[in-house]
Amino acid sequence: MHMNDTIVALATPPGVGAIAVIRLSGAESIALTASCFDGKDLLTQKSHTIHFGNILDGEEIVDEVLVSLFLNQRSFTKEESVEISCHGSQYIINRIIQLLIRKGARLANPGEFTQRAYLNGRFDLAQAEAVADLIASENESSHAAALNQMRGGISKEIKALREKLVHFASMIELELDFSEEDVEFASRDELKELIKGIDKVLVKLIDSFQLGNVIKNGVPVVIVGKPNAGKSTLLNALLEEEKAIVSDIAGTTRDTIEDEINIGGVKFRFIDTAGLRETTDQIEAIGVERANQKMKESSLIMYLFDLSTEGLDVILAQEQQLIEMDKPYILVGNKRDKVESEPAALLENEHYISIAAKQETGVAALKDMIFAKSQMDNFKTGNVVVTNARHHQSLVNTQNALHDVVRGIDNQITNDFLAQDIRHSLYYLGEITGEISTDDLLDNIFSKFCIGK
Ligand code: GDP
Repeated sequence: MHMNDTIVALATPPGVGAIAVIRLSGAESIALTASCFDGKDLLTQKSHTIHFGNILDGEEIVDEVLVSLFLNQRSFTKEESVEISCHGSQYIINRIIQLLIRKGARLANPGEFTQRAYLNGRFDLAQAEAVADLIASENESSHAAALNQMRGGISKEIKALREKLVHFASMIELELDFSEEDVEFASRDELKELIKGIDKVLVKLIDSFQLGNVIKNGVPVVIVGKPNAGKSTLLNALLEEEKAIVSDIAGTTRDTIEDEINIGGVKFRFIDTAGLRETTDQIEAIGVERANQKMKESSLIMYLFDLSTEGLDVILAQEQQLIEMDKPYILVGNKRDKVESEPAALLENEHYISIAAKQETGVAALKDMIFAKSQMDNFKTGNVVVTNARHHQSLVNTQNALHDVVRGIDNQITNDFLAQDIRHSLYYLGEITGEISTDDLLDNIFSKFCIGK
């Protein structure tokens, strides 16, 4: 990665638009732009000013543009930067980028603008990764989690933990210098106490990953029920689109179909399954097996039954199975339009709701219930949520390394080994914020960005 050259890339999505923005960053950004700009002398203008003019390729006018200038490191990358707003034609965009490359700029690598911002100290690694998450966020919850992280959410917690550990590490390393004398600068009891405190925070962060994962990938909700209970119809009503095949033939929903829907700012993933029923049909048997697996992986189970045909004893037996699974669940009585009344035992049950999927009645109330039962309002409390698998792994590694430290103290291992174990934990914590990083790691992270980000 050469930090000295000037990079260029399209910052807006490829394709036709009213306006496209081409971005340059690096010491020559303004000089390169000025060399093909017909208008004011860009080299003598102030930072954060916009200038109208033509981009010229020799004598030929390529486009009328607006040029925004960012001087004195007062830009996203903390380098001199320029943004050229041109007309959003692929032809014009290519011409201008080619022209700037001919003048001496280099096409940016994926994520290179963000990587430069990180390397120039604008933010740490966790925050840089949050930029990617923010760009990818598609609902309120993933947006809130990314924004929290970009503002330093997890970084703040990690830095505080790390500082405390560094203090102890230095005390123990100091003891190594005095190894001839039998001194103890770092109280082992205090160290264990500190590790206990850190462990508490680690557990909280590690646990939050499950929520973080769900925020990013969607809350998995499984719909189970006998064939013809109305699973496909309900799914369609929820999706408000015809995505599942509705059929009158029992057992046509053989495989699982997944679909996503946004409820209360959270992404839910609905998984329609072949259901719980015992079967002799081989294809169905595989479906039932898969349904059980899906239920284990889900955050919420919806048991859907036909109010007009299902006996109360069957429903209650099914509920018992769900209680044993120890997962949030909802009993959904469908085809309310076909019955005169609903069993009192169900009406008293806080897990019960009745709907008519075909007529789309009760669906809005069901959505509210799904949101409430999945306990997804947690993300609104502002707690730090770990959404990144890499961070999760580093946190788990830190935790293991710290457990090694405690075991070491208990077994009275020598100071140099103890110091080494503490250094391991510091290493893993540093990996999250990028205080410890390797080129491979950085390349891996930034290559996942688009070009121009
Ligand atoms: P699945 O096998 O569980 O996916 O069931 P489907 O969604 O294919 O529905 C089976 C049949 O029940 C279809 O003919 C639907 O039109 C019908 N159905 C579904 N929901 C309702 C409802 O609320 N009321 C009535 N009367 N019929 C429904």
